[in-house]
Formats: sequence, structure tokens, C-alpha cells
Amino acid sequence: MSRSVGAHTADPCPRCFVEAVRLGKPMSVGGRDAVGYVCDHCANAWSRPVGDDLEIYDVVRVDLPDTTLYGTVWQVEGDRVQVRGTGGTCGEWLLWVERWRVIMY
Ligand SMILES: [Zn+2]
Repeated sequence: MSRSVGAHTADPCPRCFVEAVRLGKPMSVGGRDAVGYVCDHCANAWSRPVGDDLEIYDVVRVDLPDTTLYGTVWQVEGDRVQVRGTGGTCGEWLLWVERWRVIMY
């Protein structure tokens, strides 16, 4: 259901299914860390919980402001996750990202 838009992956809105690149914003839902999204098309708002059970070698997607990356969890340290990926234009990479940007894939 997702498609690539430049360096990003676009996802459909759960209500109107219009696909767009939405980076989300960290927020709290019922006392739990979550990421909130808003659809530009129908104004629907929804959220997803931040993964607190990430484990080494989990395959994840990382939503960064300038690109969407896919890789595996290499290290988890507090609110940071180190993700390792291969391929793409930059070959092998290793990157620390904020936990809320990481989505189990
Ligand atoms: Zn929508």
C-alpha cells in the first residue's frame, strides 16, 4: 500500500486512503509515547505507538525529514536506536536515530 515518492515512502490515510508523506510528530496518547499524524486531505488525525520492544536485528523503517530508510536495529540505547542498512545509493550505513522515528517493518 506504500509507494516511493522521491527519497520518501508515502502511506495511505486510514480514512480516505489518500497517500502522502507524513513524518508525524512525537506526542503522548494515554500516557504512552506515540507519533501523531494528520491527513491534509480529510483532516483525519491518528497516531501509532512508539515501539518500546525494539530488539537487535528487527527490520525497521525510519522516517527522517529528508528520506525514508529501511534497515535493521543494531543497538538500542534509551531514546536512541542505531540502525544499519545496506544498499541504496550510499552503500552500507549505520545511523543513530530518535526512537519515535523508527517503525517496525
Ligand atoms: Zn485522509
